[in-house]
Amino acid sequence: MVDLLPESIGLWQRVEGTAQDHFRRSGVREIRTPLLEPTHLFARGIGEATDVVGKEMYTFEDRSARSCTLRPEGTASVVRAAIQHGLLSQGPQRVWYSGPMFRYERPQAGRQRQFHQIGLEFLGFDDPRSDVEAIAIAWDLLVELGVGDLTLELNSLGTTEDRARYRSELVTYLSAHRARLDPDSRERLERNPLRVLDSKDSETQALLQQAPSLLDVLAPSSRQRFDLVLEGLSALQIPFTFNPRLVRGLDYYSHTAFEITSTKLGAQATVCGGGRYDGLVELLSGPPTPAIGWALGMERLILLLAQSAQQEKLGPVPDLYVVNRGDLAQSSALLLARGLRRLGLAVELDPGGAAFAKQFKRADRSGAPWAAVLGDAEADLGLVTLKPLRVAGEPISCSLVDLDAIRAVVGGL
Ligand code: ATP
Ligand code: MG
Repeated sequence: MVDLLPESIGLWQRVEGTAQDHFRRSGVREIRTPLLEPTHLFARGIGEATDVVGKEMYTFEDRSARSCTLRPEGTASVVRAAIQHGLLSQGPQRVWYSGPMFRYERPQAGRQRQFHQIGLEFLGFDDPRSDVEAIAIAWDLLVELGVGDLTLELNSLGTTEDRARYRSELVTYLSAHRARLDPDSRERLERNPLRVLDSKDSETQALLQQAPSLLDVLAPSSRQRFDLVLEGLSALQIPFTFNPRLVRGLDYYSHTAFEITSTKLGAQATVCGGGRYDGLVELLSGPPTPAIGWALGMERLILLLAQSAQQEKLGPVPDLYVVNRGDLAQSSALLLARGLRRLGLAVELDPGGAAFAKQFKRADRSGAPWAAVLGDAEADLGLVTLKPLRVAGEPISCSLVDLDAIRAVVGGL
Protein backbone atom coordinates (compact mmCIF):
# COMPACT_ATOMS: atom_id res chain seq x y z
CA MET A 1 0.00 0.00 0.00
CA VAL A 2 1.21 3.42 -0.92
CA ASP A 3 1.80 6.65 0.97
CA LEU A 4 0.89 9.90 -0.75
CA LEU A 5 3.43 12.46 0.34
CA PRO A 6 2.81 16.22 0.57
CA GLU A 7 5.03 16.89 -2.44
CA SER A 8 2.77 14.88 -4.75
CA ILE A 9 -0.54 15.88 -3.25
CA GLY A 10 -1.03 18.93 -5.49
CA LEU A 11 -2.21 16.88 -8.47
CA TRP A 12 -4.55 14.84 -6.31
CA GLN A 13 -6.17 17.92 -4.91
CA ARG A 14 -6.55 19.40 -8.37
CA VAL A 15 -8.24 16.23 -9.63
CA GLU A 16 -10.53 16.06 -6.61
CA GLY A 17 -11.40 19.75 -6.83
CA THR A 18 -12.12 19.58 -10.55
CA ALA A 19 -14.21 16.44 -10.14
CA GLN A 20 -16.26 17.96 -7.34
CA ASP A 21 -17.03 21.05 -9.39
CA HIS A 22 -17.72 19.00 -12.52
CA PHE A 23 -20.25 16.85 -10.67
CA ARG A 24 -21.90 19.92 -9.15
CA ARG A 25 -22.41 21.42 -12.60
CA SER A 26 -23.68 18.05 -13.83
CA GLY A 27 -26.37 17.81 -11.15
CA VAL A 28 -24.74 14.82 -9.47
CA ARG A 29 -24.66 14.72 -5.66
CA GLU A 30 -21.99 13.15 -3.49
CA ILE A 31 -22.51 10.07 -1.35
CA ARG A 32 -20.06 8.65 1.21
CA THR A 33 -20.34 5.10 2.45
CA PRO A 34 -18.19 3.13 4.92
CA LEU A 35 -14.97 1.45 3.83
CA LEU A 36 -16.03 -1.73 5.59
CA GLU A 37 -19.07 -3.77 4.60
CA PRO A 38 -20.44 -7.22 5.37
CA THR A 39 -18.71 -9.68 3.05
CA HIS A 40 -21.98 -11.01 1.67
CA LEU A 41 -22.74 -7.62 0.08
CA PHE A 42 -19.85 -8.08 -2.34
CA ALA A 43 -20.21 -11.83 -2.66
CA ARG A 44 -23.79 -11.28 -3.84
CA GLY A 45 -23.43 -7.94 -5.54
CA ILE A 46 -20.26 -8.60 -7.48
CA GLY A 47 -20.51 -12.36 -7.86
CA GLU A 48 -18.61 -15.29 -6.41
CA ALA A 49 -17.18 -16.23 -9.80
CA THR A 50 -15.38 -12.92 -10.35
CA ASP A 51 -11.68 -12.35 -9.71
CA VAL A 52 -12.56 -9.55 -7.31
CA VAL A 53 -14.58 -11.76 -4.99
CA GLY A 54 -12.70 -14.98 -5.66
CA LYS A 55 -9.14 -13.75 -5.19
CA GLU A 56 -8.85 -10.08 -4.43
CA MET A 57 -10.84 -9.18 -1.34
CA TYR A 58 -9.47 -8.27 2.07
CA THR A 59 -11.82 -10.27 4.23
CA PHE A 60 -11.61 -10.92 7.95
CA GLU A 61 -13.76 -11.61 10.97
CA ASP A 62 -14.49 -8.83 13.43
CA ARG A 63 -14.66 -9.38 17.20
CA SER A 64 -18.20 -10.68 16.92
CA ALA A 65 -17.19 -13.24 14.30
CA ARG A 66 -18.95 -11.37 11.49
CA SER A 67 -17.23 -11.61 8.13
CA CYS A 68 -16.20 -8.12 7.00
CA THR A 69 -14.57 -6.91 3.79
CA LEU A 70 -12.73 -3.74 2.91
CA ARG A 71 -14.66 -2.47 -0.07
CA PRO A 72 -13.08 -3.53 -3.38
CA GLU A 73 -15.34 -1.18 -5.37
CA GLY A 74 -18.05 1.40 -4.77
CA THR A 75 -21.19 0.34 -6.61
CA ALA A 76 -22.44 -2.36 -4.25
CA SER A 77 -22.12 0.00 -1.26
CA VAL A 78 -23.91 2.84 -3.03
CA VAL A 79 -26.76 0.52 -3.98
CA ARG A 80 -26.94 -0.86 -0.44
CA ALA A 81 -27.12 2.67 0.98
CA ALA A 82 -29.75 3.75 -1.54
CA ILE A 83 -31.94 0.77 -0.63
CA GLN A 84 -31.36 1.08 3.11
CA HIS A 85 -32.26 4.78 3.22
CA GLY A 86 -35.15 4.64 0.80
CA LEU A 87 -33.47 6.95 -1.71
CA LEU A 88 -35.01 5.02 -4.56
CA SER A 89 -38.55 5.92 -3.51
CA GLN A 90 -37.57 9.59 -3.87
CA GLY A 91 -37.09 9.27 -7.62
CA PRO A 92 -34.07 8.67 -9.79
CA GLN A 93 -30.74 9.37 -8.12
CA ARG A 94 -27.55 10.72 -9.64
CA VAL A 95 -24.69 10.26 -7.17
CA TRP A 96 -20.90 10.22 -7.15
CA TYR A 97 -18.30 9.02 -4.68
CA SER A 98 -14.57 8.98 -4.28
CA GLY A 99 -12.15 7.24 -1.99
CA PRO A 100 -9.93 4.25 -1.36
CA MET A 101 -10.71 0.72 -2.55
CA PHE A 102 -8.86 -2.46 -1.59
CA ARG A 103 -7.93 -5.42 -3.75
CA TYR A 104 -5.30 -8.05 -3.10
CA GLU A 105 -3.55 -7.79 -6.47
CA ARG A 106 0.04 -7.92 -7.61
CA PRO A 107 1.25 -4.34 -7.22
CA GLN A 108 2.77 -2.66 -10.28
CA ALA A 109 2.53 0.68 -12.06
CA GLY A 110 -1.14 1.67 -12.03
CA ARG A 111 -2.12 -1.32 -9.88
CA GLN A 112 -2.11 -1.15 -6.12
CA ARG A 113 -3.68 -2.95 -3.19
CA GLN A 114 -5.13 0.24 -1.82
CA PHE A 115 -6.11 2.45 -4.75
CA HIS A 116 -8.58 5.27 -5.26
CA GLN A 117 -11.60 5.64 -7.44
CA ILE A 118 -13.94 8.42 -8.43
CA GLY A 119 -17.24 6.91 -9.43
CA LEU A 120 -20.69 7.83 -10.64
CA GLU A 121 -23.98 5.96 -10.36
CA PHE A 122 -27.31 6.80 -12.01
CA LEU A 123 -29.99 4.81 -10.19
CA GLY A 124 -33.46 4.58 -11.71
CA PHE A 125 -32.39 5.58 -15.23
CA ASP A 126 -33.47 3.44 -18.13
CA ASP A 127 -33.36 5.60 -21.25
CA PRO A 128 -30.38 5.12 -23.60
CA ARG A 129 -29.87 8.86 -23.23
CA SER A 130 -28.84 8.27 -19.61
CA ASP A 131 -26.06 5.97 -20.85
CA VAL A 132 -24.91 8.79 -23.10
CA GLU A 133 -25.09 11.37 -20.30
CA ALA A 134 -23.16 9.15 -17.86
CA ILE A 135 -20.42 8.46 -20.40
CA ALA A 136 -20.26 12.14 -21.37
CA ILE A 137 -19.72 13.13 -17.74
CA ALA A 138 -16.71 10.80 -17.53
CA TRP A 139 -15.34 11.89 -20.89
CA ASP A 140 -15.75 15.60 -20.18
CA LEU A 141 -14.14 15.28 -16.75
CA LEU A 142 -11.05 13.70 -18.31
CA VAL A 143 -10.96 16.34 -21.02
CA GLU A 144 -11.37 19.12 -18.46
CA LEU A 145 -8.45 17.70 -16.49
CA GLY A 146 -6.35 17.87 -19.64
CA VAL A 147 -5.89 14.16 -20.30
CA GLY A 148 -5.37 13.65 -24.00
CA ASP A 149 -5.19 10.63 -26.31
CA LEU A 150 -8.11 8.78 -24.86
CA THR A 151 -10.12 6.06 -26.51
CA LEU A 152 -13.68 5.22 -25.60
CA GLU A 153 -14.45 1.56 -26.27
CA LEU A 154 -17.98 0.28 -26.17
CA ASN A 155 -19.87 -2.95 -26.33
CA SER A 156 -23.35 -4.15 -25.54
CA LEU A 157 -23.84 -7.12 -23.23
CA GLY A 158 -27.55 -7.21 -23.97
CA THR A 159 -30.07 -8.63 -21.56
CA THR A 160 -29.68 -11.63 -19.27
CA GLU A 161 -31.38 -13.74 -21.97
CA ASP A 162 -29.05 -12.39 -24.67
CA ARG A 163 -26.05 -13.25 -22.54
CA ALA A 164 -27.36 -16.72 -21.69
CA ARG A 165 -27.76 -17.41 -25.41
CA TYR A 166 -24.33 -16.03 -26.12
CA ARG A 167 -22.75 -17.92 -23.24
CA SER A 168 -23.89 -21.24 -24.59
CA GLU A 169 -22.65 -20.40 -28.11
CA LEU A 170 -19.32 -19.29 -26.71
CA VAL A 171 -18.96 -22.36 -24.51
CA THR A 172 -19.69 -24.62 -27.47
CA TYR A 173 -17.07 -22.87 -29.55
CA LEU A 174 -14.41 -22.69 -26.85
CA SER A 175 -14.97 -26.23 -25.63
CA ALA A 176 -14.19 -27.47 -29.13
CA HIS A 177 -10.82 -25.71 -28.84
CA ARG A 178 -10.20 -26.32 -25.18
CA ALA A 179 -6.64 -27.51 -25.65
CA ARG A 180 -5.59 -24.17 -27.12
CA LEU A 181 -6.86 -22.15 -24.15
CA ASP A 182 -4.50 -20.88 -21.48
CA PRO A 183 -5.03 -22.52 -18.04
CA ASP A 184 -6.73 -19.42 -16.61
CA SER A 185 -9.22 -19.34 -19.47
CA ARG A 186 -9.89 -23.05 -19.13
CA GLU A 187 -10.94 -22.43 -15.56
CA ARG A 188 -13.01 -19.42 -16.58
CA LEU A 189 -14.73 -21.53 -19.20
CA GLU A 190 -16.26 -23.49 -16.31
CA ARG A 191 -16.94 -20.67 -13.89
CA ASN A 192 -17.50 -17.49 -15.88
CA PRO A 193 -17.09 -18.13 -19.62
CA LEU A 194 -17.60 -14.52 -20.74
CA ARG A 195 -14.46 -13.59 -18.86
CA VAL A 196 -12.43 -15.67 -21.32
CA LEU A 197 -12.91 -12.72 -23.69
CA ASP A 198 -10.79 -10.72 -21.25
CA SER A 199 -7.79 -13.04 -21.52
CA LYS A 200 -4.45 -11.42 -22.24
CA ASP A 201 -2.99 -14.69 -23.58
CA SER A 202 -2.09 -14.33 -27.27
CA GLU A 203 -3.06 -17.90 -28.26
CA THR A 204 -6.44 -17.46 -26.55
CA GLN A 205 -6.87 -14.06 -28.21
CA ALA A 206 -6.15 -15.60 -31.60
CA LEU A 207 -8.77 -18.24 -30.94
CA LEU A 208 -11.25 -15.55 -29.98
CA GLN A 209 -10.92 -13.85 -33.37
CA GLN A 210 -13.14 -16.59 -34.81
CA ALA A 211 -15.45 -16.82 -31.79
CA PRO A 212 -19.12 -15.92 -32.12
CA SER A 213 -19.76 -12.24 -31.40
CA LEU A 214 -22.13 -11.00 -28.74
CA LEU A 215 -23.52 -8.39 -31.09
CA ASP A 216 -24.76 -11.13 -33.43
CA VAL A 217 -26.91 -12.79 -30.80
CA LEU A 218 -28.46 -9.61 -29.38
CA ALA A 219 -32.25 -9.47 -29.58
CA PRO A 220 -33.45 -6.74 -31.99
CA SER A 221 -34.56 -4.54 -29.09
CA SER A 222 -31.13 -4.79 -27.43
CA ARG A 223 -29.46 -4.00 -30.71
CA GLN A 224 -31.73 -1.01 -31.26
CA ARG A 225 -30.98 0.27 -27.79
CA PHE A 226 -27.25 0.04 -28.44
CA ASP A 227 -27.65 1.96 -31.71
CA LEU A 228 -29.41 4.76 -29.84
CA VAL A 229 -26.48 5.01 -27.43
CA LEU A 230 -24.01 5.21 -30.30
CA GLU A 231 -26.11 7.84 -32.05
CA GLY A 232 -26.27 9.87 -28.83
CA LEU A 233 -22.50 9.79 -28.45
CA SER A 234 -22.05 10.85 -32.07
CA ALA A 235 -24.44 13.75 -31.52
CA LEU A 236 -22.20 14.91 -28.65
CA GLN A 237 -19.15 14.42 -30.85
CA ILE A 238 -17.63 11.94 -28.45
CA PRO A 239 -15.49 9.56 -30.52
CA PHE A 240 -15.78 5.84 -29.78
CA THR A 241 -14.76 2.47 -31.09
CA PHE A 242 -16.80 -0.70 -30.94
CA ASN A 243 -15.04 -3.51 -29.09
CA PRO A 244 -16.92 -6.82 -29.30
CA ARG A 245 -14.56 -8.42 -26.74
CA LEU A 246 -15.19 -5.87 -24.05
CA VAL A 247 -16.85 -7.54 -21.10
CA ARG A 248 -16.69 -6.07 -17.66
CA GLY A 249 -15.22 -8.17 -14.88
CA LEU A 250 -18.33 -7.91 -12.75
CA ASP A 251 -21.41 -10.08 -13.21
CA TYR A 252 -24.18 -7.55 -12.86
CA TYR A 253 -23.62 -5.63 -16.07
CA SER A 254 -26.12 -5.55 -18.93
CA HIS A 255 -26.45 -3.62 -22.20
CA THR A 256 -23.89 -0.82 -22.46
CA ALA A 257 -20.37 -1.63 -21.25
CA PHE A 258 -17.52 0.76 -21.82
CA GLU A 259 -13.93 1.57 -21.01
CA ILE A 260 -11.86 4.66 -21.52
CA THR A 261 -8.26 3.71 -22.23
CA SER A 262 -4.97 5.43 -22.89
CA THR A 263 -2.01 4.06 -24.82
CA LYS A 264 0.30 5.91 -22.44
CA LEU A 265 -0.33 3.59 -19.51
CA GLY A 266 1.32 0.38 -20.68
CA ALA A 267 -0.37 -2.79 -19.49
CA GLN A 268 -2.78 -1.00 -17.13
CA ALA A 269 -4.43 0.94 -19.94
CA THR A 270 -7.95 1.36 -18.58
CA VAL A 271 -8.54 4.65 -16.79
CA CYS A 272 -12.30 4.39 -16.49
CA GLY A 273 -14.68 1.47 -16.78
CA GLY A 274 -18.38 1.20 -16.41
CA GLY A 275 -21.68 0.12 -17.75
CA ARG A 276 -25.29 -0.59 -17.16
CA TYR A 277 -26.30 -2.87 -14.29
CA ASP A 278 -30.07 -3.16 -14.45
CA GLY A 279 -30.20 -6.30 -12.29
CA LEU A 280 -28.11 -5.26 -9.32
CA VAL A 281 -30.55 -3.30 -7.17
CA GLU A 282 -33.06 -6.14 -7.25
CA LEU A 283 -30.31 -8.68 -6.60
CA LEU A 284 -29.55 -6.75 -3.40
CA SER A 285 -33.22 -6.90 -2.38
CA GLY A 286 -34.23 -3.47 -3.64
CA PRO A 287 -37.05 -2.59 -6.05
CA PRO A 288 -36.38 -3.28 -9.75
CA THR A 289 -34.21 -0.30 -10.70
CA PRO A 290 -32.35 0.20 -13.96
CA ALA A 291 -28.97 1.80 -13.43
CA ILE A 292 -25.71 2.78 -15.04
CA GLY A 293 -22.38 3.87 -13.59
CA TRP A 294 -18.63 4.03 -13.94
CA ALA A 295 -15.48 4.17 -11.88
CA LEU A 296 -12.29 5.92 -12.71
CA GLY A 297 -8.89 4.89 -11.33
CA MET A 298 -7.26 7.90 -9.70
CA GLU A 299 -3.71 6.48 -9.71
CA ARG A 300 -3.83 5.86 -13.45
CA LEU A 301 -5.30 9.29 -14.05
CA ILE A 302 -2.54 10.88 -11.95
CA LEU A 303 0.08 8.91 -13.90
CA LEU A 304 -1.31 10.38 -17.12
CA LEU A 305 -1.46 13.90 -15.76
CA ALA A 306 2.07 13.70 -14.40
CA GLN A 307 3.28 12.58 -17.84
CA SER A 308 1.51 15.26 -19.79
CA ALA A 309 2.18 19.01 -19.43
CA GLN A 310 5.27 20.25 -17.73
CA GLN A 311 4.05 20.06 -14.19
CA GLU A 312 5.11 23.28 -12.55
CA LYS A 313 5.34 23.31 -8.77
CA LEU A 314 1.89 22.10 -7.90
CA GLY A 315 1.99 22.16 -4.14
CA PRO A 316 0.11 24.99 -2.50
CA VAL A 317 2.17 28.19 -2.42
CA PRO A 318 1.75 30.46 0.60
CA ASP A 319 1.08 34.19 0.21
CA LEU A 320 3.55 34.98 2.94
CA TYR A 321 6.46 33.22 4.62
CA VAL A 322 7.21 34.33 8.19
CA VAL A 323 10.90 34.43 9.07
CA ASN A 324 11.35 34.67 12.84
CA ARG A 325 14.17 34.38 15.34
CA GLY A 326 14.35 35.21 19.03
CA ASP A 327 12.05 34.57 21.96
CA LEU A 328 9.77 37.55 21.66
CA ALA A 329 9.91 37.47 17.84
CA GLN A 330 8.80 33.83 17.72
CA SER A 331 5.82 34.49 19.97
CA SER A 332 4.85 37.57 17.95
CA ALA A 333 5.26 35.58 14.73
CA LEU A 334 2.75 32.96 15.81
CA LEU A 335 0.29 35.68 16.73
CA LEU A 336 0.88 37.42 13.39
CA ALA A 337 0.48 34.22 11.35
CA ARG A 338 -2.76 33.36 13.09
CA GLY A 339 -4.20 36.85 12.64
CA LEU A 340 -3.37 36.94 8.92
CA ARG A 341 -4.75 33.44 8.34
CA ARG A 342 -8.01 34.63 9.84
CA LEU A 343 -8.00 37.43 7.28
CA GLY A 344 -7.69 34.86 4.52
CA LEU A 345 -3.99 34.84 3.72
CA ALA A 346 -2.07 31.57 3.33
CA VAL A 347 0.78 31.96 5.78
CA GLU A 348 3.68 29.58 6.32
CA LEU A 349 5.45 30.04 9.62
CA ASP A 350 9.11 29.07 9.74
CA PRO A 351 9.76 26.74 12.69
CA GLY A 352 12.02 29.61 13.84
CA GLY A 353 15.26 29.65 15.71
CA ALA A 354 17.56 28.96 12.74
CA ALA A 355 19.90 31.63 11.36
CA PHE A 356 18.12 34.23 9.22
CA ALA A 357 20.03 33.14 6.11
CA LYS A 358 18.76 29.60 6.51
CA GLN A 359 15.19 30.76 7.05
CA PHE A 360 15.38 32.96 3.94
CA LYS A 361 16.45 29.95 1.92
CA ARG A 362 13.37 28.10 3.11
CA ALA A 363 11.23 31.15 2.36
CA ASP A 364 12.56 31.11 -1.20
CA ARG A 365 11.87 27.43 -1.61
CA SER A 366 8.28 27.86 -0.43
CA GLY A 367 7.50 29.93 -3.52
CA ALA A 368 5.89 32.68 -1.40
CA PRO A 369 6.01 36.13 -3.01
CA TRP A 370 6.58 37.85 0.36
CA ALA A 371 8.52 37.25 3.56
CA ALA A 372 7.60 38.80 6.88
CA VAL A 373 10.78 39.27 8.89
CA LEU A 374 10.64 39.31 12.65
CA GLY A 375 13.68 39.56 14.93
CA ASP A 376 13.59 40.56 18.58
CA ALA A 377 14.58 44.12 17.66
CA GLU A 378 11.50 44.50 15.39
CA ALA A 379 9.23 42.67 17.81
CA ASP A 380 10.35 44.98 20.62
CA LEU A 381 9.28 47.99 18.57
CA GLY A 382 6.05 46.28 17.53
CA LEU A 383 7.09 46.21 13.89
CA VAL A 384 7.45 43.67 11.12
CA THR A 385 9.40 44.03 7.87
CA LEU A 386 7.74 42.84 4.68
CA LYS A 387 10.23 41.86 2.03
CA PRO A 388 9.33 41.00 -1.60
CA LEU A 389 10.96 37.72 -2.62
CA ARG A 390 10.07 37.35 -6.29
CA VAL A 391 10.58 40.88 -7.62
CA ALA A 392 13.04 43.65 -6.82
CA GLY A 393 11.63 46.14 -4.32
CA GLU A 394 12.25 47.92 -1.06
CA PRO A 395 11.27 46.25 2.21
CA ILE A 396 8.25 47.80 3.88
CA SER A 397 7.96 48.28 7.62
CA CYS A 398 4.51 47.78 9.14
CA SER A 399 3.01 47.83 12.59
CA LEU A 400 2.60 44.28 13.91
CA VAL A 401 -0.95 44.95 15.02
CA ASP A 402 -2.11 46.57 11.78
CA LEU A 403 -3.07 43.30 10.11
CA ASP A 404 -5.18 45.02 7.49
CA ALA A 405 -2.20 47.08 6.33
CA ILE A 406 -0.05 43.95 6.13
CA ARG A 407 -2.72 42.15 4.18
CA ALA A 408 -3.02 45.11 1.84
CA VAL A 409 0.71 44.99 1.07
CA VAL A 410 0.93 41.20 0.68
CA GLY A 411 -2.39 40.77 -1.06
CA GLY A 412 -1.52 43.61 -3.45
CA LEU A 413 -4.68 45.44 -2.43
P1 ATP B 1 -8.31 -4.05 -14.50
O1 ATP B 1 -8.72 -4.82 -15.69
O2 ATP B 1 -7.27 -3.02 -14.79
O3 ATP B 1 -7.97 -4.91 -13.31
P2 ATP B 1 -10.95 -3.77 -13.43
O4 ATP B 1 -11.86 -4.24 -14.48
O5 ATP B 1 -10.60 -4.67 -12.30
O6 ATP B 1 -9.59 -3.20 -14.08
P3 ATP B 1 -12.87 -1.91 -12.35
O7 ATP B 1 -13.30 -2.81 -11.29
O8 ATP B 1 -13.77 -1.62 -13.49
O9 ATP B 1 -11.43 -2.35 -12.89
O10 ATP B 1 -12.40 -0.51 -11.72
C1 ATP B 1 -12.46 0.72 -12.44
C2 ATP B 1 -11.11 1.36 -12.57
O11 ATP B 1 -10.42 1.37 -11.33
C3 ATP B 1 -10.17 0.65 -13.50
O12 ATP B 1 -10.41 1.01 -14.82
C4 ATP B 1 -8.83 1.16 -13.04
O13 ATP B 1 -8.56 2.44 -13.59
C5 ATP B 1 -9.02 1.28 -11.57
N1 ATP B 1 -8.46 0.12 -10.85
C6 ATP B 1 -8.98 -1.11 -10.69
N2 ATP B 1 -8.19 -1.89 -9.94
C7 ATP B 1 -7.11 -1.13 -9.62
C8 ATP B 1 -5.93 -1.34 -8.83
N3 ATP B 1 -5.70 -2.50 -8.23
N4 ATP B 1 -5.05 -0.31 -8.71
C9 ATP B 1 -5.26 0.87 -9.30
N5 ATP B 1 -6.36 1.14 -10.04
C10 ATP B 1 -7.27 0.16 -10.20
MG1 MG C 1 -9.02 -5.93 -11.88
